[in-house]
Amino acid sequence: MCIYCEKPVRGGGINRFKYHLAEKGDVEKCKKVPPAVAHQFGQNIEEFMNKKRKTQENYAKSYEHVMRLKENLIEWKSLKHDSNNNNNNNNNNIQEQVNSVYYQPVIDAITNMGAGYKGPNFGRVRGYLLSKLVEDMKKIIEWYHEIWKQTGCTIMADGWTDRCRHTLINFLVYCPKGTIFLKSVDASHASKTTDLLFELFKDVVNFVGPENVVHIVTDNAANYVAAGRLLEAEFPKLY
Ligand SMILES: [Zn+2]
Repeated sequence: MCIYCEKPVRGGGINRFKYHLAEKGDVEKCKKVPPAVAHQFGQNIEEFMNKKRKTQENYAKSYEHVMRLKENLIEWKSLKHDSNNNNNNNNNNIQEQVNSVYYQPVIDAITNMGAGYKGPNFGRVRGYLLSKLVEDMKKIIEWYHEIWKQTGCTIMADGWTDRCRHTLINFLVYCPKGTIFLKSVDASHASKTTDLLFELFKDVVNFVGPENVVHIVTDNAANYVAAGRLLEAEFPKLY
């Protein structure tokens, strides 16, 4: 309800209210708002609109950029097929543009190895290199652990059902530094039972550290809500 004219402003949230007070747009205008307040809200709306316009412009720009790259890539490919033009500046330009965005770090790394470098074979990629990547990821999670301690974090549990009717729950941890994917669990056996669901969540909370978790966000099905209550009982500081 407006404190000036005492009219209820229904729906549309805070923005609709701002328009009412700023005496702008097609919302019913306030008849009793002091001019200074109306002016202030008018400026607030303008700032908001400017911000919105900028975001849209940036989006359009990056979209254009991607589309241009895509066109260039297609053009580049067709030029590459035409193997006769080995002294084609245009070709080089486009190639450079494409490289600098996506492939340059890879190319730099490979050329640093010098001539004769052989890429890893399939066995090495799926064996040693994959496990090394997993180890690196674990280190990153450890690093995030330190951030969670400082800022607190949110656990997000996103449940879904695959084509074989398995219930899978993806666990993600959000903090101001960013969101990381923790794990995916086949919860087919647990999703229908509050107690098992509770155990599953408890494991995750213990991994992240109960003192770091501010709240946990789950589906709102009855058994999830019940498991949430059990969690709140187990960890009094968690919502
Ligand atoms: Zn009013």
